[in-house]
Amino acid sequence: LSTKSEVLIEKENRYGAHNYHPLPVVLEKGEGVFVWDVDGKKYYDFLSSYSAVNQGHCHPKIIGAMIHQAQKLTLTSRAFYNDQLGVFEEYVTKYFGFDKVLPMNTGAEAVETALKLCRKWAYEVKGIAENQAQIIVCENNFHGRTTTIISFSNDEGARKSFGPYTEGFIKIPYDNIDALENVLKASKNIAGFLVEPIQGEAGVYVPTEGYLAKAKALCEAHNVLFIADEVQTGIARTGRLLATCGNCSCEKGCENKPEVKPDILILGKAISGGVYPVSAVLANDAIMNVIKPGQHGSTFGGNPVAAAVAIAALEVIQDEKLAENAERLGIILRKGLNEIAQRNPLIELVRGKGLLNAIVINCGEESDLAWEICLRFRDYGLLAKPTHGNKIRFAPPLVITEEQIKDCLTIIERALNDFI
Ligand code: PMP
Repeated sequence: LSTKSEVLIEKENRYGAHNYHPLPVVLEKGEGVFVWDVDGKKYYDFLSSYSAVNQGHCHPKIIGAMIHQAQKLTLTSRAFYNDQLGVFEEYVTKYFGFDKVLPMNTGAEAVETALKLCRKWAYEVKGIAENQAQIIVCENNFHGRTTTIISFSNDEGARKSFGPYTEGFIKIPYDNIDALENVLKASKNIAGFLVEPIQGEAGVYVPTEGYLAKAKALCEAHNVLFIADEVQTGIARTGRLLATCGNCSCEKGCENKPEVKPDILILGKAISGGVYPVSAVLANDAIMNVIKPGQHGSTFGGNPVAAAVAIAALEVIQDEKLAENAERLGIILRKGLNEIAQRNPLIELVRGKGLLNAIVINCGEESDLAWEICLRFRDYGLLAKPTHGNKIRFAPPLVITEEQIKDCLTIIERALNDFI
């Protein structure tokens, strides 16, 4: 073992559960769009921790808020009030245009929270008979890794041998409005429709223009809650504050020309700039008020550090106009990738919105070519990771500049050219 990286990888492999398959690179420092490994090599981060680090690594304003709060008070549990939580709750509800928020820590927890909230609403408000509520979900979804969430996963690796599974979910094809309408017409027991506005983990699948608005209208007509999982797509990633926002790249929230206003909005990841685990479920009173004291919660959810960090992280999105930047640079990135695809047959397809993008490599899902390409990107100073075999996601921090995007396009083409 000659490098520091090799020593540390060996340690993780020896003492850590093998529940991931990381690209062999050991990071110790980050700033903006860059990360450094323990041997001093510098890389562009083109994954942003699955769209958590939208504001860039170690943003001084967010880190400052965290340190300031951590020196005063870190945790009270929800047994008591704390001086930060109410301030965050007012800020985040006004930011996104909802009556109330329920704070949690991780994306999966927030999805679980939304599912529980939806079911309780179905029994207490809609009047579905106890234990009969069904929630519609989409094929190839990714919403996290709890037992309930994997119960409706298509990913056999994530699902197999973890049963018995949670009942009450109906799976339909994504981006298929007829399928949704048929299920809604067929059953009186539908409580909600859980959907990713763009399917991130599936390989950045962008639905047809108008799909979300039509789906929302159908849900409304059938008194079914439209639940948007914006854990990956939210917080300016797709060139909008939320992917459910309409053609408006402002950072002012969904009341501003919404394409779709979800009944329940799920946020995570970049709501804290990747600095601290924070997630949130937003809804109006008619829904959120079904949850009563003692019925749901978490020791760390709504802690004062999380609250202070999330306010700072959301302020950075507005201050630095990151939705606008994501939209503008996303167009430049996809144009550059499409030009590379003209010259290099390895790129089968380029897709995405804002700075949530993917290329599909011209090889089967079983091939390890995309992995080899990512290793070559790494050698040339750019970090990306394959998803579903032959797709490589390109999702840099939203603070990236045009010049840096062009530099990255050069790296990407050089690496791809090694394989033809
Ligand atoms: N929902 C979506 C759409 C996601 O992309 C993810 C994470 N990739 C999650 C939920 C789960 O978030 P976490 O890993 O924080 O539990």
